[in-house]
Amino acid sequence: MATNLLIYRDDLDFLLYDVLDSATLTQRPRYADHSRETFDAAIDTAHRLASQYFAPHNRISDESEPQFDGQTVKTLPAVGEAVRAFARGGFLAATHDYELGGMQLPTTISQSCLALFRAANVGSSAYCFLTAANANLIRAFGSDEQKRRFLPPLLDGRWLGTMALTEPNAGSSVPDLRTTATPLPDGRYAIKGQKIFISGGDHDISENIVHLVLARTPDAPAGAKGLSLFIVPKRRVDSDGTAGESNDVALAGLIHKMGYRGTTSTMLSFGENDACIGELVGEIGQGLRYMFHMMNEARIGVGMGATMLAYTAYRHALAYAKERQQGRLPGNSDPSSPPVTIIEHADVRRMLLTQKGYAEGALSLCLYAARLVDDEKTHPDAAQREEAAQVLALLIPIVKSWPARYGLATNDLAIQVHGGYGYTREYPVEQFYRDNRLNALHEGTHGIQALDLLNRKAGMKDGQAFAHLHERVLTTVESAKRGGDPELSGKAKTLERAWKDLRETTQILLDAVKEDPISGSANAAYYLDLFGHHVIAWLWLWQAVTAKTLLPARPHLHSFYHGKLAACDWFFNTELALMAPVHTLLREPGHNALRTEAEWL
Ligand SMILES: Cc1cc2nc3c(=O)[nH]c(=O)nc-3n(C[C@H](O)[C@H](O)[C@H](O)COP(=O)(O)OP(=O)(O)OC[C@H]3O[C@@H](n4cnc5c(N)ncnc54)[C@H](O)[C@@H]3O)c2cc1C
Repeated sequence: MATNLLIYRDDLDFLLYDVLDSATLTQRPRYADHSRETFDAAIDTAHRLASQYFAPHNRISDESEPQFDGQTVKTLPAVGEAVRAFARGGFLAATHDYELGGMQLPTTISQSCLALFRAANVGSSAYCFLTAANANLIRAFGSDEQKRRFLPPLLDGRWLGTMALTEPNAGSSVPDLRTTATPLPDGRYAIKGQKIFISGGDHDISENIVHLVLARTPDAPAGAKGLSLFIVPKRRVDSDGTAGESNDVALAGLIHKMGYRGTTSTMLSFGENDACIGELVGEIGQGLRYMFHMMNEARIGVGMGATMLAYTAYRHALAYAKERQQGRLPGNSDPSSPPVTIIEHADVRRMLLTQKGYAEGALSLCLYAARLVDDEKTHPDAAQREEAAQVLALLIPIVKSWPARYGLATNDLAIQVHGGYGYTREYPVEQFYRDNRLNALHEGTHGIQALDLLNRKAGMKDGQAFAHLHERVLTTVESAKRGGDPELSGKAKTLERAWKDLRETTQILLDAVKEDPISGSANAAYYLDLFGHHVIAWLWLWQAVTAKTLLPARPHLHSFYHGKLAACDWFFNTELALMAPVHTLLREPGHNALRTEAEWL
């Protein structure tokens, strides 16, 4: 069976160094010890560990879901080995300060490294990402005492972490969470409640599991302001940091899923015997704010996960299409002539180009968002930091959701390119499809992200965030026109017009939302698609301008650059062109599903 890790380093190098100019990050004080060589070394290490420890059991863990044996949840030994290799490689603390044992890597580089683990095995790498997010929160908001006791074992992979928000009656609506935290005389809290869908909530991989739980203190106000964040370990942790007795966190059930089957999904019961103790993180009532602090990077992570599943599937489909022989081209009815490889058929070429446009477009989007995180945190100019923060906030719902939606479409096409074989378990593409289906659901569903984009982000700061993004698009437009290449100039003009249309459609929608928030936002999901396509078209033009500039000096990458130009061409001529009716629909905000009564469905 083919290994699933088919990543082309050319793509990463092109986006990181030629498009995003990441090597210039080393001029910033925080990354001064780094160089392109250290960045490359980190990516090489990630590739080696992902190939050696993660890729080999991707299929096996899909087929052997974790099982509860009456005592513990049993996982494959390979999962634990992979998680420990990830921790030894320093990737749990990739962006952390050197003093905390971190590598102080820019987010652009760390996301590139983590992308390789996601491509190799989303199920096993999820334990690592949850633990990194958990440790990041404790590092940002925990007391010195909490950092001393919890961070070392989390960062060296001895303990793993979870994020425990969701409850049976509160999924999308986090403010409705009901789990309670009652103060105890010693300053800690008694935790009681049920959480559902908690990834990595129970397993035999680590000595302890550190849950970060959102819960409500007595007399807390209703809604989000009443939520506080608690560290709730599976086994209680002494003052010297030793894990001891059970903390009354019980496994209420394992959830069996269509994909991501290597990660345990659990229903957890906290305090069934009134003996579950939690420690408050930071201040009362700030729990959701703390969670949101980490949300941008978590959502880039989800977008990157969706992207890598799509990218990997595309690479498998491409390899298959170059080998599989079937049929003859139209006009050739001679049965004695040899069959062609299926990549020669126009429809298969169409499917591959569409996949390339989506998957490599999504990769550019996620890495661009990671670069915005770096600029927000480390750009030497305060105004640029603020601008990066605004553009990032505006783009986040798209970064989370566009790759999830069009990544799944890529996975669907990868199955189609394989024909009937794609539907069988002998080939990996069906698993990528099942794994990727999750990404439109967790970390805020597609519908919730669309509402965030339209109701909160599109008009944020009186439209300033949109204006900053638009200016960046126009910079690419100008550079495409300046080059004097007629094809690129033509696309520049198309993009300029498209963004003018997007701005107008956005204004119509913002006015409609102001007039009637329910009806005005009813088509928000279409708006997210539309906006996402405009962003991806921009990033494709940026890639095309870069490829065209580099082509003469790098003849050995001739096909690679022509591939970028062709994908840009394809995206403009098909995907962007197909958005015209979406503008029409959105400009008639009354044309929405609410005209249909619930009883009529
Ligand atoms: C495999 C898996 C792993 C997960 N891991 C974790 C984890 O580790 N920790 C954790 O805390 N949670 C986790 N989750 C939970 C996940 O975040 C929720 O499933 C998600 O937020 C949706 O909540 P729900 O399932 O209750 O769906 P619901 O909120 O009931 O949504 C159902 C449908 O209604 C729509 N909808 C709901 N409200 C609105 C609204 N206001 N406007 C428009 N549409 C709306 C949704 O978009 C969706 O289409 C995980 C889920 C899965 C499936």
